[in-house]
Amino acid sequence: MDEEKAREERGQGAPNRRRAFLQALAGIGAGAAAAGVGLQVLQSPQAEAAEIPPPLAESTGTALIRMQQDLERAVTSGRTPSWMMVVDTRKCSGCNACAVACKAEVPTGPGGFARRIVIKDLPIGPRPFAVFKPVNCLQCDDPPCAKVVPAGMIRKRPDGIVEFDHATLSGPYAEAAARACPWNLIHVDSGATYTMNTPAPQAYEDRSFEEYGRTYSRKKGSVGLLGRARKCTFCAHRLEQGVLPACVTTCMSGAMYFGDMNDTSSLVYQVTQGRRVFKGHENTGVKPRVIYFEESMPGAVHVDCEACHSR
Ligand code: SF4
Ligand code: SF4
Repeated sequence: MDEEKAREERGQGAPNRRRAFLQALAGIGAGAAAAGVGLQVLQSPQAEAAEIPPPLAESTGTALIRMQQDLERAVTSGRTPSWMMVVDTRKCSGCNACAVACKAEVPTGPGGFARRIVIKDLPIGPRPFAVFKPVNCLQCDDPPCAKVVPAGMIRKRPDGIVEFDHATLSGPYAEAAARACPWNLIHVDSGATYTMNTPAPQAYEDRSFEEYGRTYSRKKGSVGLLGRARKCTFCAHRLEQGVLPACVTTCMSGAMYFGDMNDTSSLVYQVTQGRRVFKGHENTGVKPRVIYFEESMPGAVHVDCEACHSR
């Protein structure tokens, strides 16, 4: 895998691209940048021309109630939904509550995660500027991870979720899938827990949980996921019960929209219409199902996602 991309996704920066980006800024001169002129380097003509609507003004609670109603309609309709997650990074405060909720819902050990927040510090202008970007498996429609293992181990479900077969996708296959994800969004479960070497290992780490229709526990000696490939499941087990993903319901800022893109009356469908969205690494043709708004706060400088990412 491209180590530069992996470092970037781990939040450690991508030295070469970041250096080039900073050099572009430096070329404008510190004085000009402080005066706001340097910020224009991040603003494409496309963005300048665009009518950029502000973040949606609905309260987090109102949006959640609507998305819950949308979800109930989707799961009772008899139609096959097309799940999509939309992230508004302008609303994300970087609090990590969603990542903690995810750990509780889909338990992973030290070093493993299904969701985390990448923090991008952008040293531009007179004030500190950072983007908080929640990341999880993109549920690619054409998943690179599926191409490196025998057919059937990684399955694209009709609803869009990329499902792993834990019975067969293990050991070297799990390792191969993890290496193939261009965004480093799969980890292989080491079986370790946070409290295993402490005087008081905690029971919450041993609890059972559901993944792809089966019940597992990370407790020693149980039907566990040691050596299995782990990633975000879009909380499929919750969706099947008509409940929104844990990260979505936990976000106090309402930074995420989730629902069925086949339903034109759903909030997730409607928030994406006529808006500028970034579908990360679109150039690779993977067709991600986690997409990001690429719009500015009213009165704020616009930052193109491609300042750091390819499309
Ligand atoms: S984001 Fe990575 S793990 Fe998820 S489907 Fe795409 S390649 Fe596979
Ligand atoms: S959808 Fe579920 S598994 Fe995926 S990041 Fe959110 S909480 Fe974690």
